[in-house]
Amino acid sequence: MAITEEQKNHISQLIQSMTIDEKIGQMNQAAVSIVGGFEVPFEELIEMLTDGRISHAEFEKIMSTAEQDYHEDEIRAGKVGSLMLQDAKKANELQKIAVEESRLGIPLIIGLDVIHGFRTVFPIALAEACSFEDELFVKTARMAAKESRKQGVNWHFAPMIDVSRDARWGRVSEGPGEDPYLVSQFAKAKIRGLQGDQSSTENYVAACLKHFVAYGAAEGGRDYNTTSMADSLLHNVYLAPFKAAIEEGAATVMAAFNDLNGVPCTVNQDMLRAVLKEDYGFEGFVVSDANGIRECVTHGIAEDEKAAARQAATAGLDMDMGTGLYSAHLKTLIEEKLVEESLLDEAVTRILTIKMWLGLFAEPYVEIEEEAEVPQNNTQLALEAAEKSIVLLKNENNLLPLERTAKISVIGELADMATEVVGAWSISWKAEDCVSVLSGLSAQGERVKYFATGGLTSPLDENKLKEALAYGDVIVAVVGETVSMSGEAASRATITLPSSQKRMLEKVKEAGKPVVAVLMNGRPLALEWEHQNVDAILETWHLGVQMGTAVANVIFGSANPSGKLSVSFPRVTGQCPIYYNHPNTGRPGGKSKFTSKYMDIENGPLYPFGFGLSYTEYTYSNLILERFTDSIRVSVDVQNTGQRPGTEIVQLYVRDIVGSIVRPVLEMKDYQKVTLLPGEVRTVSFDLPKQKLGFYDNKGEFKFEDGEFLICLGKNSQEYLEEKITLTFD
Ligand code: BGC
Repeated sequence: MAITEEQKNHISQLIQSMTIDEKIGQMNQAAVSIVGGFEVPFEELIEMLTDGRISHAEFEKIMSTAEQDYHEDEIRAGKVGSLMLQDAKKANELQKIAVEESRLGIPLIIGLDVIHGFRTVFPIALAEACSFEDELFVKTARMAAKESRKQGVNWHFAPMIDVSRDARWGRVSEGPGEDPYLVSQFAKAKIRGLQGDQSSTENYVAACLKHFVAYGAAEGGRDYNTTSMADSLLHNVYLAPFKAAIEEGAATVMAAFNDLNGVPCTVNQDMLRAVLKEDYGFEGFVVSDANGIRECVTHGIAEDEKAAARQAATAGLDMDMGTGLYSAHLKTLIEEKLVEESLLDEAVTRILTIKMWLGLFAEPYVEIEEEAEVPQNNTQLALEAAEKSIVLLKNENNLLPLERTAKISVIGELADMATEVVGAWSISWKAEDCVSVLSGLSAQGERVKYFATGGLTSPLDENKLKEALAYGDVIVAVVGETVSMSGEAASRATITLPSSQKRMLEKVKEAGKPVVAVLMNGRPLALEWEHQNVDAILETWHLGVQMGTAVANVIFGSANPSGKLSVSFPRVTGQCPIYYNHPNTGRPGGKSKFTSKYMDIENGPLYPFGFGLSYTEYTYSNLILERFTDSIRVSVDVQNTGQRPGTEIVQLYVRDIVGSIVRPVLEMKDYQKVTLLPGEVRTVSFDLPKQKLGFYDNKGEFKFEDGEFLICLGKNSQEYLEEKITLTFD
C-alpha cells in the first residue's frame, strides 16, 4: 500500500515498542456482543426475522434498543485492533479510548458488511452485474464508501467476488455471478470505487475481497459445504477475480469458511501464503471469516482451539474475526515456540500499514452530523443502478411497455413489501427511503389497483384474486423470494417460485388475462413453467431503495431495459450447477441417446448467461478480425433495427478449439455498451490482447498454446457471429 517512508518508520518503531499482548491485540477483531435488552432471546429474534414473523424494519428497531458489549477495557489495554460497528458517536468514543487512553494510541479499524450500499441501498451485486457497466460499479461503491466513512466505518467486507455457478447457493445474490471475466471487472471497479478517491479520508475505505477462495463452489450449492477442484479450475475461474483485484490494490482479504481440497481456507498455507502473499504479492492483511478459526476444530483439522490458532497464524491469517482465539492462545504458543514471534510482526505490520494508509493515525474521528434525508444525487444514482440492472426475459407480443392509462391489477405480496427491496446484507437503510413496486407503479399508472392476494407469507386468498382478475386488463404479478430466502445460510434445494405463487399464476393463466411477472429474487430461479405460460417476465431482483420507481419506469416505458444476465437460469433445479463456460464432454448433448443430457428436460439453460431483451431490436453484421503483433482487433456492426432508442451490451467470447486440457466451450473476454437511436448503426471494436488467450494448466502454470480459436461477438453466450483464427504465441 502506498504509505510514505516516514509512515513505514513509524510502524517499525511502534512494532519495536509493542509487547506481545499488544501485537496480539492488533490481530484481534473483538466481537461486539449483544448482552441483552430484548424480551426474547437473540437467536429467536433471528428465527423470527428468517421465517417472516417480523420484518426487517421491525428487526432493526428492536436491535437499536439492544445492550452491547464494546470491549472498552480491552481496547484501553491495547487488546483490540478492530471492531464491527455502525454508529458514528460510538465509533468516536471507542476511537478515543484507543487513541488517547491506550499505551500506544493505535486507532481501531472499524469494519462492516457494506455489500451493496450503506444508507443508499443499491441493487444486490448479482443484479448490478447485469448492467455490465464498470463505471456504475465504481460510482455505487464510491458513494457507499463516503456514506459509511461518515459513520466511522472505514473497512468494507466487500466486494464479495466468489464466482458462483450454482443457483441453489444462497450467497449467489451477494456476488456478480458466474463468469470469471465479469466478476474480475466488477472486482477491479469496486476496488477503484471503494479505495480510489484518496483526496480526503472521508472519501475512501479499505476493501476486503471475500471469500478467499472457492466458497462459491460449495458442493451441491449448500452453504459452507466442502469444495474440491483441480488447479486449472481453481486458477482459471475461482482465483482469477482475486488476482485481478489484488493487482488493482485491494487492501484486505477474508479467508473463506470452506475447506479446499481438504484444507479449510482459514488455515490454508498454500492459498494464504504461497498464492496470495507470495505469488500475487499481496501487501495488505488477511482476516478470517466470522468464527473461522474455531470452526477448524469442527472441520477436524485441528485437535483443539489452541491448535486452530497455531495453524491459522502459521498459515498467514493476520486477523481473527471474533473468536478471541488469537488473544487466548498466541502468547502461550510463542512461549512454547510453536509459533514464531516474527509471524506476529508480519501480521501487525500489515494491519498497521492499512490503518496508516486509511489516515486513521492522523484523523481517527468522524464529524457527527445531524441525520438527514438521502441527498438527491444518491437517490438518482440508486435509480440509475436499479434501472440498468433490470433484465427483460420475455415479452410476448410486445406486451410491455404498458400504457399509463391501462387498468392494472397488481397482485403478489412482494409488491407491497417496501422493506423487501433492499436484498440480503443491507445495513443502514431506512424504511422510509424504500420505494415498493406498488408505490412505484401507483405513482405513474393512472388506474393501478392492488389486491392483497397473499400467497407468500400468508395463504393465497382466492376471492381477492378473483377481484383482481375482474378488474385489470393486465395483471402485474410480483413474485419471487423474500430477502431472507437468499444470502448467507439460505441455500434452497428447490429454486422454483414458492408453490402458492405458482398457483396464483396458474389461476391468472386460466382466466386468460395478459400477465407480467415481476420477479423479486436473490438468485436465478427455475422458471420453465413460467416461461411457457406467462406473457412477459421482468427480472428485477432486489434492486435497492429505488426499486419501485425503476420497475415502473421500465413497465411504462420511460426506461428501455438493457440489463443482461450475469448468471445462467436453469429450466429446473436439477440442472444446477449450470453455467455457460463449461468444458465440453466427448458427447455434447444431442439427439442420440448416449450424449450428455438429462432424459427428462431439454438441454441447456432456460436463459443463458448474457441474455436480455429490449423494447427495441439489434442486428449484428460484418464481423471483422484484424491481426496485430500482440492483439487482434475484433469489430462488428450493430444496428438498432427497432423503434426506440436503446442500449445494447455487446459481448466478446472466445473458444480455444484444441488445448492440452479440455477448454471451456466459450469464455467471455470483453464487453461494451452502445446506445443507439432507431436505425442507427455503429461499428463496435475490441482489442483482444493475446495475453487474454492463455490459461492455467493442471499444475497451476499459465501457458499459451498455438492453434485455432473461435472469436465470437454477439448478444449473449448463445447468439453471436463467429470467425476462426489461427494464432501462434512466441
Ligand atoms: C460472512 C461474511 C461476513 C462476516 C461478518 C460471515 O458470516 O460469511 O461474509 O463478512 O460474517 O459479518
